[in-house]
Amino acid sequence: MSPQKPTILVTGGAGYIGSHTVLALKKAGYNVVVLDNLVYGHRDLVESVLQTELVVGDTNDRGLLDEVFRTRDISAVMHFSAYAYVGESVSDPAKYYRNNVIGTITLLEAMLAANVNKFVFSSTCATYGVPVVVPIPEDHPQNPINPYGASKLMVERILTDFDTAYGLKSVRFRYFNAAGADPNGLLGEDHNPETHIIPLVLQTALGKRDSVSIFGTDYDTPDGTCVRDYIHVSDLADAHVLGLEYLLRDSPSAVFNLGNGNGFSVKQVIETAQRVTGKPIAVKTCDRRPGDPPALIGSGEKARQILGWEPKYPNLDDIISHAWKWHQRRHGEG
Ligand code: UDP
Repeated sequence: MSPQKPTILVTGGAGYIGSHTVLALKKAGYNVVVLDNLVYGHRDLVESVLQTELVVGDTNDRGLLDEVFRTRDISAVMHFSAYAYVGESVSDPAKYYRNNVIGTITLLEAMLAANVNKFVFSSTCATYGVPVVVPIPEDHPQNPINPYGASKLMVERILTDFDTAYGLKSVRFRYFNAAGADPNGLLGEDHNPETHIIPLVLQTALGKRDSVSIFGTDYDTPDGTCVRDYIHVSDLADAHVLGLEYLLRDSPSAVFNLGNGNGFSVKQVIETAQRVTGKPIAVKTCDRRPGDPPALIGSGEKARQILGWEPKYPNLDDIISHAWKWHQRRHGEG
């Protein structure tokens, strides 16, 4: 019999990227405990679909964290729980700094008190701000232009300092645009409110919305709309398992971009969705959304080289078609 694999605490495991990563961890044989306050997460995903232990609570609750670490033999933490709406972060920055920064410090302190020193962190390409080089490498300057990106950058800095002072080892993943759904249809993207372009486009294709808004057509990009690097959520999940295993080998702290190195404009996303779904998608053009840089494309070369990460679904058609299958099923049409 192979030895029992370690237990991993996954905060935000009831959310979109977290739940896909729990699935990947379980497939790889890890024991998983999810901590989620269920503000945006879904209980049934964890308990019924993933059949995983769920602790309902907040990363700001130090007493609960101490209890979780005391009663389980946790080897590492993956930290997904955070607020992640760029627009909301501009209008309500206090909410973002309190949850994303203070909540993370509380979690890190509880880890250190329990002698757990391995941490996989969900950072973001929003820490770069407006890129000066594309595709963006990891050593690109970080000048976030919205409070969401700033909150994640603060945690990155805290992780550097906690490594120096306390020996806390971390892998920081800077995601580009997470999209798609589990190819087997088990999980998908289910935000409320939904603000992300691909689900909104697909909801429009399903007739759940009248039209999709294009936020800005006057950007300095080939067709005037924002360009993003869409990365399949199952590829992100695989990278997290590789990042965890990198830390379990006692490797030094490291930062990796997770992107495909390909950019697609908002108009291209809509055209691709029209082709994949075979449905007409009405569009409206609107003003720019505050906090949006014109183009974000990331080089995932370092993750390929050091972690051996190989994205399985770099193609936008696959990303959208997996999301489409999920949306059809979700809305009873699959
Ligand atoms: N976007 C859009 N209309 C929408 C939602 C998003 O035009 O209804 C644009 C947005 O301005 C950005 C891109 O689509 O350039 C991706 O936005 P999303 O919210 O999906 O992800 P983000 O880049 O904020 O993480």
